[in-house]
Amino acid sequence: MKVAVVGAGWGGLAAAVRAAQAGHAVTLLEAARTPGGRARTVAAALDDGTPLELDNGQHILIGAYTESLGLMRTVGVDPEQALLRLPLTLRFPDGGGLALPDAAPPWDALAGIARARGWSVRERAALLARAARWRRAGFGCAPQASVADLCAGLPARLVREFIEPLCVSALNTPAHAACGATFLRILHDSLFAGHGGSHLLLPRVDLGALLPAPAAAWLAARGHSVQLGRRVHTLAHALHGGWQVDGDPFDAVLLATGSHEAARLVAGAQVPAAEQPALQAWAAQARALRHGAIATVYARVPGAARAPLWPVPLLALRGAPAQFVFDRGQLGGPAGLLAFVVSAFEGERDALQAQVLAQAQAELGLPPLQAPWTVVERRATFLCTPQLVRPPQAIAPGLLACGDYVAGPYPATLEGAALHGAAAAAALGPG
Ligand SMILES: Cc1cc2nc3c(=O)[nH]c(=O)nc-3n(C[C@H](O)[C@H](O)[C@H](O)COP(=O)(O)OP(=O)(O)OC[C@H]3O[C@@H](n4cnc5c(N)ncnc54)[C@H](O)[C@@H]3O)c2cc1C
Repeated sequence: MKVAVVGAGWGGLAAAVRAAQAGHAVTLLEAARTPGGRARTVAAALDDGTPLELDNGQHILIGAYTESLGLMRTVGVDPEQALLRLPLTLRFPDGGGLALPDAAPPWDALAGIARARGWSVRERAALLARAARWRRAGFGCAPQASVADLCAGLPARLVREFIEPLCVSALNTPAHAACGATFLRILHDSLFAGHGGSHLLLPRVDLGALLPAPAAAWLAARGHSVQLGRRVHTLAHALHGGWQVDGDPFDAVLLATGSHEAARLVAGAQVPAAEQPALQAWAAQARALRHGAIATVYARVPGAARAPLWPVPLLALRGAPAQFVFDRGQLGGPAGLLAFVVSAFEGERDALQAQVLAQAQAELGLPPLQAPWTVVERRATFLCTPQLVRPPQAIAPGLLACGDYVAGPYPATLEGAALHGAAAAAALGPG
């Protein structure tokens, strides 16, 4: 089949690569000049004018991201080289917090919790008891439960130092508003996916080199068409079956834009009147999703000639607004370059930057940081709230959606996008 994939984020790239492997002729259409979508490389400049390639936001993968890791291997990226693998760590600058040993589940989590620093025996016992309760319940809960509901009665320090950072980094939604069922599913799938499932995988290359550029090159080398800087404006039913994308005929379309743009394209699609209600209903669901922002503040430690600044490349932070800081010098970046991550961000960019620089001095004891550069992604992820209704993959015959927001078990993640992309390609059948 002649297949159009609209959007070259991780969802669209997965769809395009898997459809190409299945024998379809793929045309990948991406509005931006570079592929990668919400996980891309951007050109930045330090305040002395030095140009620098940075990520639009610090990303973490975990060992359980099997589709993403498989996709990387398919297009010739070795995950062992491109990613730094670490057992799950949530350490604070003062050494407190959790660091799991590199052991098989559930011993890694049990030993990590039992040895957590800075938590009393009562607090550690409370977390172990709650984890055992979640396990007995099959990591399920009432659909309306929030993460805060799940954690009711846990000591406040545990919630502050463990649940909230984990929740906001995984769901980009604060614990009181975040979906308890999704949170438990992530805990289950990472902690019980087998040895290494909960490992953190930190990119050692820029995000563009992690998948988007190699995937685009892989497609082009196999004769598929990769069109960057090509925004799709209209979809229309073709007279003899299939779809027209801005007038060009295709047998099928895999729609891999963000949810708002997908809603716009689907709502405006020219289709027979009988099919309009189904398309309008799908578009309404996609349009109804609410989004949360993530901000990343990059800044340099003056005079830092070499990495590492700390024993591990990431630290959890107790203060606000940033929840995590990454030492990019340990991740293939320039020595002394830090990335502060502010999930569930609400506010203004300039005020945020000043607050993060103050937080760095107060919490990390660093001298005033230099050359700050802040990127705010306003629609970073959909808000993963309880009982959220997400639009299904199938929009109409031959028209399938495959972004991270499509109905599925995971929140907005690279893995969710890659899984939906692969599933949409599989739904086409063999070429
Ligand atoms: C700052 C930040 C940090 C994050 N951190 C993590 C993390 O640590 N771990 C994790 O797993 N996930 C993380 N995420 C989430 C992850 O990046 C997303 O879930 C994932 O990239 C979504 O991929 P996608 O393919 O569904 O959509 P997108 O990446 O949004 O791709 C959609 C693509 O469609 C293109 N497009 C839009 N309209 C058109 C059109 N009309 N014609 C053609 N092309 C069009 C866009 O330009 C874009 O390239 C983070 C996101 C952000 C923003």
